[in-house]
Amino acid sequence: MAQQSKKVLIVGGGFGGLFTALELAGSADVTLVSDTDYFCFRPLLYEYLSGEVEAWHIAPDYKELFGGDINFVRGEAEEINFENRKAKISSRDELFDYDALVLAVGGVTNFWNVTGAEEFALPFRTIADADRLRNQMVRALDKVSPTLAPQDAREKLTFAVVGGGASGVELSTKMSDLLTDAFRRRGLKGEPHVLLVEMSDRIVPGMGEDIREYVEKVLLEKHIDVNLQTKVLEVKPHGIVYEHNGKQTEIETVTTVWTAGVKVNPLIEKLNLPKDKHNLILVNPTLQVKDFDNVFALGDIAKVEAVAPILVGTAQLAFQESDLLAANIRAFLSGKSLKAKQFEEMGEAVSLGTSDGAVLIGGNVVGGFLARDARFALYTSRLPTWHHRLKVGASWFFGGTMPKPLQPLGIS
Ligand SMILES: Cc1cc2nc3c(=O)[nH]c(=O)nc-3n(C[C@H](O)[C@H](O)[C@H](O)COP(=O)(O)OP(=O)(O)OC[C@H]3O[C@@H](n4cnc5c(N)ncnc54)[C@H](O)[C@@H]3O)c2cc1C
Repeated sequence: MAQQSKKVLIVGGGFGGLFTALELAGSADVTLVSDTDYFCFRPLLYEYLSGEVEAWHIAPDYKELFGGDINFVRGEAEEINFENRKAKISSRDELFDYDALVLAVGGVTNFWNVTGAEEFALPFRTIADADRLRNQMVRALDKVSPTLAPQDAREKLTFAVVGGGASGVELSTKMSDLLTDAFRRRGLKGEPHVLLVEMSDRIVPGMGEDIREYVEKVLLEKHIDVNLQTKVLEVKPHGIVYEHNGKQTEIETVTTVWTAGVKVNPLIEKLNLPKDKHNLILVNPTLQVKDFDNVFALGDIAKVEAVAPILVGTAQLAFQESDLLAANIRAFLSGKSLKAKQFEEMGEAVSLGTSDGAVLIGGNVVGGFLARDARFALYTSRLPTWHHRLKVGASWFFGGTMPKPLQPLGIS
């Protein structure tokens, strides 16, 4: 059988699955299955929330990215029979067979069984999550009158972000800037209250000391209410209960956003594959699942020994793995030997509100507007396909990347 006619089935179209498919296009009969019609470049989801970027910039349709080179199937992979090499996709009656299978379904928000968290806290992983959060901010602002005393306005505009990792920091600073700007535009008194709750004794625990110092300074400047060594015990429809130093406090919030953890996609829990105690699939350095030669896994669901802890659960790891995985699938389909690769840390970049950021360049931390723009430039270069990069780059160059104010509902 010619390599071109061998079937590669890729389940999941995020950083791992999409970039593998793009790398493999033309060298096999590639089908990508995804439960959404579009890819999501999550590192810029905060900028989508603030209106600095538009949905089409960061969430391009697969069909547009693929042209005719890759088959796209919208649906959810429900079951996989590894012996018969067939997969059941929710939207289709027929089974999908494959010569090589790529598992790339990523993670889902982990609410750690905290009472009420799954029910009442908002996750922040998708375009729809960002839309919901933005709407909730606008609706809450619409209820506050300019005559309200500063303390009352602050109370009515309290938002909690749970998790002080990069995601929580990026989200809380963006929310704070948007809400502060809305206070000014609407003539409200005082300032909003954005609460960041972190269980450990430091924010951005995975990042270096220099960048953390810069992030801490910005959080202080933006009046973000940082609560370290604080554990959320319960999420209510409009509030949270937390514990600090043995003392419990209940506070009312408009919304609680949960960025405090990721767990493996439930599909993986169902599959009979070798896994570790966190349900991560055990893969060889070639990204082949242990004992399953024709099944590969990458990204947030795969455990590769010897990957630096700082890279675990990142887009930069999934992106680098996709390159190796595509090369190894080509080798596998043509009977050649497979390779391993060292994955590098590609640098740190965080967004800190609508006009600030921090990036680590050559071991030095650069902050401010320059860092914000450097991050934009860096991420433009990482968007999928040349064609899409050019379109987005041109749109940002000519149209700018200014935030969209939180206008009253009905005004666009
Ligand atoms: C808000 C946010 C910001 C982030 N920012 C950064 C950052 O700045 N830098 C960084 O390195 N990392 C960042 N990350 C982490 C990064 O997004 C992930 O590590 C990366 O996306 C993992 O890639 P993946 O391919 O494993 O999974 P994903 O990119 O999550 O892709 C999985 C895909 O599979 C689809 N899928 C799920 N289940 C099924 C199913 N049963 N059938 C079919 N399709 C399915 C999903 O819809 C999704 O499209 C961020 C994450 C979030 C949530």
